[in-house]
Amino acid sequence: MAGNWKMYKTPAETRAFFDAFEPLVAGVSNCDIAICPSFVNLEAAVGSTEGSNIAIGGQNLYPAKEGAFTGEISGLMLNALGCKYVIVAHSERREYFHEAEADVVKKVRAALEYCLTPIVCIGEKLEERESGNTEVVLGAQFDGGLAPLTPEEFSKIVIAYEPVWAIGTGRTATPQIAQETHAFIRSKIKAAFGADAAAATRILYGGSVKPDNVAKLMSEEDIDGALVGGASLDPKSFAAVVKF
Ligand code: PEP
Repeated sequence: MAGNWKMYKTPAETRAFFDAFEPLVAGVSNCDIAICPSFVNLEAAVGSTEGSNIAIGGQNLYPAKEGAFTGEISGLMLNALGCKYVIVAHSERREYFHEAEADVVKKVRAALEYCLTPIVCIGEKLEERESGNTEVVLGAQFDGGLAPLTPEEFSKIVIAYEPVWAIGTGRTATPQIAQETHAFIRSKIKAAFGADAAAATRILYGGSVKPDNVAKLMSEEDIDGALVGGASLDPKSFAAVVKF
């Protein structure tokens, strides 16, 4: 169960969040918990969660170890700060920062090089779903961004299916729509990497997941977890999602 804080919270607000959140999930051992704050809050987040069952991740990385890339952050830096995860190709990065499939492959490899688990986002826009092109779009994102990975690289990633029309809109995919799409993604994994890889890959659903809809989504066979934006900003609500 992963939280994406996007561009919210200061370091003081980050510490206050974990003071409240950590005791609420202290007994949870049946799932992995991760929170991905913005870069400037990573140190506060890692410091606040040391020795707990909460892992911290970045929201993006640049695919080079270091260099003249003003404003960018590397996997080396995330690892050195104590991060365990990094989100790759969130739809907001695809939309506003023009990230495409070739970037996904490079970023996944850059993350793995520094022992970070990439949470790779794929998802279709509203017009793509309404025109019946969901599988074409997801297929292209999978074929371009994930299929080029080696089986060993692929075994270390987490996929997040996030229909763009459901992100931050309050409009969740129905459990049935989410399940059908997750099953399609798993069939793509099976075709590219085999049945064992398909069974082992964690596919998270993201898009307006809240305490009151998480249980139904999670009861679907192919939904293994959630990537949560808005509802991860409040300790009680994200704890309720984690402990659905
Ligand atoms: C997200 O940012 O990845 C997300 C799913 O946001 P929200 O839960 O707010 O829709």
